[in-house]
Amino acid sequence: MPTQTVWVEPELLVEHQGVRVFNTYKEDDYDLGAQRYWFTVNSLCGELDRLCDDQPCRHVFDVRELSTWWAPEQPPYCIDANDTPENHAAWERYWELEPTAIHAAITAAIERGELTAHGRTEGAAKKTEPLPQSSAQVESSPAPVPASIPEKRPDQD
Ligand SMILES: [Zn+2]
Repeated sequence: MPTQTVWVEPELLVEHQGVRVFNTYKEDDYDLGAQRYWFTVNSLCGELDRLCDDQPCRHVFDVRELSTWWAPEQPPYCIDANDTPENHAAWERYWELEPTAIHAAITAAIERGELTAHGRTEGAAKKTEPLPQSSAQVESSPAPVPASIPEKRPDQD
């Protein structure tokens, strides 16, 4: 007997500077729930990347791998002597803080250019280096414009 998979648009978590970030789901099954730390900038790409034109898929990323990720401080685990109502309350507060931290890390990464509509950029740290040609240098120096800036970075890993 055939089964049918119904396509469900993933939930949009963040839309910032034209980059849309969606939740991903365990085994790409909406009913299994959203992944806590894994997101995608392509609504077609989730935990299973078989629908992606890029192999491997670069659209799906772990928010904890972004340079902008800052994790709230975790309370001690609720075991043994730490299994107290106070500590349980501390974890409740932690779980409330974490979505805010995730949201902040993603929007900051988009602003830095680390996260684009094409996925997480490789070597995003290079973008913090000074540009080879500032406007002041253009005025004071007759040197030719360096030809080292590629028009478009080819897709590569
Ligand atoms: Zn993809």
